[in-house]
Amino acid sequence: MPRAMDAFEYRDGALTCEGVLLSDIADAVGTPVYVYSHRTLIEHLERLRAAFALQATDPLICFSVKSLPNVEILKRLVAHGAGLDIVSGGELHRARLAGVDPARCVYAGVGKTDDEISAALRAGIGLFNIESEAEFENLASLASRERKIARAALRINPDVDPRTHRYTTTGKRETKFGVDLDRARAFFRAADGVESVRLTGLHLHIGSPVYDPAPYREAVTRTVSLMDAIESDHRGRIFETLDVGGGFGADYETGQSPALAEYAEAIAAPLRSRTAAGLRLILEPGRMIAANAGVLLVRVVYTKQSGERQFVICDAGMNALLRPALYSAFHFIWPAEVAPAFVPPRRGRDVDLPGLVLCDVVGPLCESGDFLGEARRLPPVARGDLLAVHAAGAYGMSMANRYNSSPLPAEVLVRDGEATLIRSRESFADLTAHERAAVLDGVGARDPVPAGERS
Ligand SMILES: *Cc1c(COP(=O)(O)O)cnc(C)c1O
Repeated sequence: MPRAMDAFEYRDGALTCEGVLLSDIADAVGTPVYVYSHRTLIEHLERLRAAFALQATDPLICFSVKSLPNVEILKRLVAHGAGLDIVSGGELHRARLAGVDPARCVYAGVGKTDDEISAALRAGIGLFNIESEAEFENLASLASRERKIARAALRINPDVDPRTHRYTTTGKRETKFGVDLDRARAFFRAADGVESVRLTGLHLHIGSPVYDPAPYREAVTRTVSLMDAIESDHRGRIFETLDVGGGFGADYETGQSPALAEYAEAIAAPLRSRTAAGLRLILEPGRMIAANAGVLLVRVVYTKQSGERQFVICDAGMNALLRPALYSAFHFIWPAEVAPAFVPPRRGRDVDLPGLVLCDVVGPLCESGDFLGEARRLPPVARGDLLAVHAAGAYGMSMANRYNSSPLPAEVLVRDGEATLIRSRESFADLTAHERAAVLDGVGARDPVPAGERS
């Protein structure tokens, strides 16, 4: 199985995506802009499928919409057989625009509102991933009101440590997600008499990114024991689905993540007899598919020296790409056009070539945390140079924000030598479009403010 890689490469010192010069894209639509490779997205989806096929397993692969929610991207993944993993009413809206079969969608989230649940029931969402007893009761009553029978899986918390960032650890006992293994057993006892919800599966998501297949094996092994215990509690209950979530690593640095075959083996091996007996495996990959399929292009506005430090100030920072500020995430950054001696041999913090300059790559916002990369060794850069921030396809645009009244970036999809704008850059008018005063009729102080005291 070849390692995950992508379609961004230097040709004659110029960074290209599927043969298209990134500098041409920046000239056409300006910066900041996200550029995605269609080929990389689809290859990653197909490699994941192939890795599980080698384990004689045919999982339903539900792409995690929150990682890269652009509808045009979702449409293309759906056309290549992906289902979708949604976590909100907004993502349900996107899923519908993408034309996905709702039966191939799973809906997770700890705080689903009544409106969101009702909309998902009416849309015919395939599987609700239930996070608590209270949510289960609510789903049951909303489903009977809608005269529907919902299918659901209980999210369990297998209490394994994926050894990732504290903010992205989701399968430990003390996180807010899912219910622990003891509660899960009691949960199924209580769910037995409920007619409007068929509780037919289990769901888990241990964290992201998880660079080690071992925690998956451990979590799945514990889950299989739980399935055995629950099935022995209730004669006649057979689990139909197991959703093991996402979190598969992406190569933020060259060669960083394990081969997909290792993840597939770790997950499929403990399930072998269950999948042979008809259990459907569900996966929810996000970053593994999208991260290396996208780069963020920014332009250098100024360079400046401050004490010992050299700052490269770009036209976007934590507004366009929040991960470095939020998680201290590493993204490889390199100029999109370089002299031949500066073509990087790989992507990583340890790239060392003669003549590199130590610098901090920062954004223009009024926050010290507004950086894209700290203490980086880069080829000398100057005002006007274009920089590519790599592995930014997942949780890049989806976490972009308008802080400092920064319009959201544009997005471009490259496919077979052709570049398509899939989201136009926001204008200043977009920024203020919702800021219109409208007095709320029927809402006011119970004791009217006397005319003489009004401000
Ligand atoms: C965020 C999330 C995913 C996707 O995680 P990746 O690291 O992008 O693969 C999958 N499932 C659930 C429940 C999530 O919260």
